Amino acid sequence: MDRRQFLSLSAMACLGVTRNTSAITGPNTRDVCDFDFAFITDVHIERGKLAASKFSRTIAEINSLKPAFVWDMGDMSLYPNSGKAYLDCIKQLQMPFHACPGNHDIALNDKNPRRLFNDCFGPAYYSFDFGGVHFITLDGNTVVNRQGKNTIDACLDPRQIAWLKADLEATPQQTPIICGVHIPIVSTYIKRRGGGTFPEDFPIAPQFNKSRAEALIDILSLHNVKLVLQGHAHENERVTVKGIEFVSSISVCGCWWQSGEGFERGVDNVPRGYRIIEVKGGHISHRYVSSCESKVDRRGEFMGFDNPIVPSKSTAIIFNCYDAPNESTAKVRIDSGPWTPMQQYTGKGGYIKMQMPHHFILRSDITELTRGKHRLTANVTWPDGTIVTEATSFTVTK
Ligand SMILES: [Zn+2]
Ligand SMILES: [Zn+2]
Repeated sequence: MDRRQFLSLSAMACLGVTRNTSAITGPNTRDVCDFDFAFITDVHIERGKLAASKFSRTIAEINSLKPAFVWDMGDMSLYPNSGKAYLDCIKQLQMPFHACPGNHDIALNDKNPRRLFNDCFGPAYYSFDFGGVHFITLDGNTVVNRQGKNTIDACLDPRQIAWLKADLEATPQQTPIICGVHIPIVSTYIKRRGGGTFPEDFPIAPQFNKSRAEALIDILSLHNVKLVLQGHAHENERVTVKGIEFVSSISVCGCWWQSGEGFERGVDNVPRGYRIIEVKGGHISHRYVSSCESKVDRRGEFMGFDNPIVPSKSTAIIFNCYDAPNESTAKVRIDSGPWTPMQQYTGKGGYIKMQMPHHFILRSDITELTRGKHRLTANVTWPDGTIVTEATSFTVTK
C-alpha cells in the first residue's frame, strides 16, 4: 500500500477518535459515565486471506455489541506488507478505534521502525479520555541490537517514562485510569516456561524484566490506575499487583489462525476471542468473549475426556476455567461423590503445550469406577466471589 492510502485511512481513524472523545467530567467517580468498550489484541493479519476473512467476521460481531470504541493492543501486524489488509478490515468497524503497537508492528531494520504505525494511527504512545475515564496507550517495544541483529526489548525509553509521569500527574486524582500495552508488564509467562531471564533464555518472547516491570508498577500505583490491558501472550491471565489488575487477553487469532476455517484456540486452549470492558456505576469490570466459529457458551471445560477413559490409579482430571484470575480456587466431583480440591496446574511443556494458571488438576484413582457413563463437575471460585460451575459426561472402558 502506498503512503497516501495509509494517510487517508489514518485520517478516518483519527476523526472517529476526535468526535467521540469526551473530556473528563470531574474529579469524582460519580461523574464517570456508563459505557463499555472492546479490547482486541494479536490479530496477526499477516496470516493471509483466511485471517482477513475470520477477523472481518469478528468485527461484525463486535459491531453488533455496539461498544463505545475498540482498542487494539497490537500485533496487528502491519509488517510484512500486511497493513492494507488490516486497515481494510478495521474500516468495517462502526465505532472509533485506538491502536497500540505490538512487537510485530515494528520494522526492526527500518530507519524509523514505527513508520507504518505512525502513518496509520499517529503516535505510538498517547492518552485519551472517554466518559470520565483516562486511557493511556504505552509503547513497550524498544529496538536494540544484540549480537549484530536488531530485536525488541520490552521497556519504555526514558522519554516515554517522563511523558507517562507527566500524563499521570495531569490526571485528576479521582479519575479512573486504564492503561494498555502490548508486551505484558505482569505475567507468570516466563516462570511457567521454566524460569530464567530475558533475553538469554527467551529470545523469541520479549518480556519486561523484573526490575523494569517493578519500576513501572511503582509509577502506576501512585495514581488511580485500575486496570492494565496486555496482549502478546495469546492467553488469558489475570494478576493483581499493588491494587492494579494486569489482564493478558486471548488473541483474536488464537494460535496464529493455525486451524484454518476451524475452531481456533489460543496457547492456553481458550477459544479465540476478545474482551469487553464495562464501566458502570463508577466500577470497571471485564469479560472474555469467544468469537464466531470458536464461540462457546460455557466458561470452561474438562480437557481429555472426549474419548472413552481407561481408568488408572492416577488419572489426570484437568479443568480449564477460561478466564479465572490467578488467585482462584477449584474443586471437582465425580458423579455425586465428594468435592475434592484441585491444584493450579502450571506445568511446563513445549511452547504451545504450556499450561496456564487457569487450568486446575486433580490426580485421582478412578479404578473403582464402573464401566459406562459418568459425570464430572468442576466448581471454581474467583477472588471476587464469582463461581463458575461446568460439567461433562465421560465414558469408562475397562
Ligand atoms: Zn502476537
Ligand atoms: Zn507480540
